[in-house]
Amino acid sequence: MPLGNISEIALQVIADHIAGCFKLTTQILPSMEPPGVAFDERRLQYNAGIIIEAFESIHFGNHDKVIGILNKDLFIPIFTHVFGEARQGGKCGLVSLFRLMKNPDGSAPPESLIHERAAKVALHELGHLLDLLHCEHKKCLMHFSGGTDEVDEMSLDLCEYCSIYLQDKLR
Ligand SMILES: [Zn+2]
Ligand SMILES: [Zn+2]
Repeated sequence: MPLGNISEIALQVIADHIAGCFKLTTQILPSMEPPGVAFDERRLQYNAGIIIEAFESIHFGNHDKVIGILNKDLFIPIFTHVFGEARQGGKCGLVSLFRLMKNPDGSAPPESLIHERAAKVALHELGHLLDLLHCEHKKCLMHFSGGTDEVDEMSLDLCEYCSIYLQDKLR
């Protein structure tokens, strides 16, 4: 679900990766605005927890899990920023494109790389919604990423262990 104005291509790439990697049916929902109360005037960022709380109280028809995609800078109180956020076993997760649009050296990555990063973060957050925990394998989608270099190091796959765990959860 786009939260604000997100390019169709970005949404489609994310949806395609969810369908391809996790073998789940996806649908792109009409866009909504992130709740204004989630904006932190002091940090000039959006509080991920407040957005998730607001969206978890909305009834999304027969959709089991909803991933909101936004281009605003997100934070949770213990971190300066996050690429995405989701509660373990929750219903709604978030992905922010904001910090994915910059490389660690400040340069701008090609659009295709931004989309690939967004797809990885979306799959990671969906993994949390499906109750997967963080994984120590650097290539695994469930590895925690603090920087875009770590996102780039992740593959578009779960490691063998997380993959078996996911299959078990989806059964
Ligand atoms: Zn995580
Ligand atoms: Zn893993």
